[in-house]
Order: sequence, then C-alpha cells, then structure tokens
Amino acid sequence: MNTEPFVSFNNIAKRWNGQLGVENISIDIPEGAFVALLGPSGCGKSTTLRLLAGLENPDTGQITIEGTDVTEMAPSARNLSMVFQSYALFPHLSVAENVMFGMKVRKVPKDERLAKLANALKITGLTGYEERKPGELSGGQRQRVALARAIVAGQPLCLMDEPLSNLDAKLRHSVRKDIKKLQKELGMTVVYVTHDQTEAMSMADIIVLMKDGHIMQTGSPQQLYSEPKNTFAAEFIGAPPMALIEGGVIQGTESTSQVGIRTEHIQLVESGQGRLSCTVSESEYLGEETHVLLDHPRAKGLVVKLHGYNSLQEGTTVDISFEDSALHFFDGNGNRMN
Ligand code: ADP
Ligand code: MG
Repeated sequence: MNTEPFVSFNNIAKRWNGQLGVENISIDIPEGAFVALLGPSGCGKSTTLRLLAGLENPDTGQITIEGTDVTEMAPSARNLSMVFQSYALFPHLSVAENVMFGMKVRKVPKDERLAKLANALKITGLTGYEERKPGELSGGQRQRVALARAIVAGQPLCLMDEPLSNLDAKLRHSVRKDIKKLQKELGMTVVYVTHDQTEAMSMADIIVLMKDGHIMQTGSPQQLYSEPKNTFAAEFIGAPPMALIEGGVIQGTESTSQVGIRTEHIQLVESGQGRLSCTVSESEYLGEETHVLLDHPRAKGLVVKLHGYNSLQEGTTVDISFEDSALHFFDGNGNRMN
C-alpha cells in the first residue's frame, strides 16, 4: 500500500506586504480523501486552496503532489481541476461547449471529447441539456455544469471553493450528496473549501479547521466533534455549539478555565436535584424537538433539547444535570486539558 500522502503542505506561509494570509500550514492528504478546509470568512481557506492550485506562491514552505515538489510549478502542470462558487461558465457557450472547452484547448480528439461529455452529463444528471445556455439553467444546474467540466478533465485532484454557496438550502443538500457520491465513484482526491460546518461534517473524511490564517485542528468529523482541541473548535463545530461554563462553577473544576458540555449530555432535572441552576431565555420549536436556551451568569451556549413541542415559560428557573464523563476541560489559553 502507498502510505505517502497524495498532497502535502509543509509549513506553508503566505503574506501580502507583511499582512498575514496563512502561516504554519502543514497538512497531509491521503489519496482518495475528501478534505474540507473549514472556518469563518477571512481565515485563509481560499488562500490555502489557491496555493495548492498554484494561483498563489508561498513565501516559505513546500507543497508536494504525489511526491513531486510543485511549489514553483505553474497551475497547468499540477494535474488538478477546480470548481468555484461563481461557476465561471462562458455565458455565450452551450452546456456541451462549456464542458468540452478545456478538452478543445488541449486538442483532445473529437470522438473522445464527445464520449467524455456524454459520460460527465450522465453522471451529473444533465443529459438532454447539451444545447442550453447557462442563462437558461437554474443555479443548481449551472453548478453541475461546472462539476461536469471538472469531471471531464479527468484529473486525480479536484479543488472546490464554496461551490454550493449560491444555491438555496434544498439544492445545496442534494448537490452535496451528488458531489460526495461522485468523489467516491471516481476515486478523486477532493479539497473542498466551506464556511459551513454542517457541510464539512457531512462530506469530509478530514476537516482542517482554520482561524486567522492558522490551523486550529485537523481530524475526522468525529474527532473534532467529540474531542475539540480548543474552545474555538468546540464552539465552531456542532449545532448548537458546545456550551462553555467558567471553571469552578461546577464543583471540582476549579483548576480549569472553561468547562465544555454538549447539549445531548444535559438533562433537565427536578428543582434542587441539579448541578446548575439556570433561567429559561428562549424556546425554539423545530418540529421533532424543542431547543430550550438557558441563561447562567457564568456560562454561555447552554441548550437543552426536549422531545416534541415543549414551551417553558421565559424566566422560569430550571435545574440541569450531566455526567462528569461528558465534560471537556480547557485551560486559560482555550486549549484542551483532558
Ligand atoms: P477565506 O477564503 O477563508 O474567507 P482568504 O483566504 O480569502 O479567506 O483570505 C485570508 C486573508 O488573506 C484575509 O485577511 C484576506 O484579506 C487576505 N488576502 C487574501 N487574498 C489577498 C490578496 N490578494 N492581497 C492581500 N490580502 C489578501
Ligand atoms: Mg474564500
């Protein structure tokens, strides 16, 4: 088995006129993996992707693809395809012409072009749309044309920068599944930029969580959810985010700065039987459950999930309880202690 990473970032840094883009970026990506670069706007996701594509050059560090140092190589020499948020389709060309554009430039023979086109349109559910112009397609269909174009490129590595953010919620959900299925079927290695933790959690094998140009945690979705390395990861991953309680508020946690707990580990208990007394600030009815948001002067993000419809009066005092084993401990720098 090949244990060499397929893509490797080795201590990459990029600045513009001294202003930080990204720093200390080291990532190993196995062949066939789906990697999500996740984080808030401006944290350096696109910069990281553009460095891999060769659209930016790093100030320091190396990037390798299949063991070859590509740091100084032109984008066209890196054997990768890209899909952007803005589709980047030619409005005056048909779907077929858009998908085949790159192949035409590379002088791929016509028979081969048409065969690859038919296959890519079939995979993306666009058969029959060959002659349409982008203006005659929905957002989801346009994004699938961009995907089809990446597929016909036949490259082993595909980079995607927020490809679904122009789509409405329902479409986003279905195209998300299409992309994941395609990636598996074609055995592609995908590096996917998103600010949406749900998207990253549901699609990725590996999540690289970023903040202010730095990597905060790299790991599987389960690792980031159940063992956040810091309070940033604890609050960024999960809906609702992990609740954080000041150290010492819960007996026995005096040596910690903050204590984290996830909503599924919090129970409402009889008055006087709990470990923490809170007041109800809001109830959000979501259909199969109700999220009850709780206030405590030394905690944030406390939520209890109740089954079905459940309206607790705002201002009501409630007691909550939880097991010690469900607690996450963080130090004064916000780093995980347990
Ligand atoms: P993200 O994709 O996570 O929203 P970016 O990678 O686009 O973030 O940007 C990261 C940081 O680098 C931001 O502070 C941004 O302003 C800065 N940046 C990105 N591209 C350039 C550029 N060409 N010139 C100067 N600063 C840039
Ligand atoms: Mg971006």
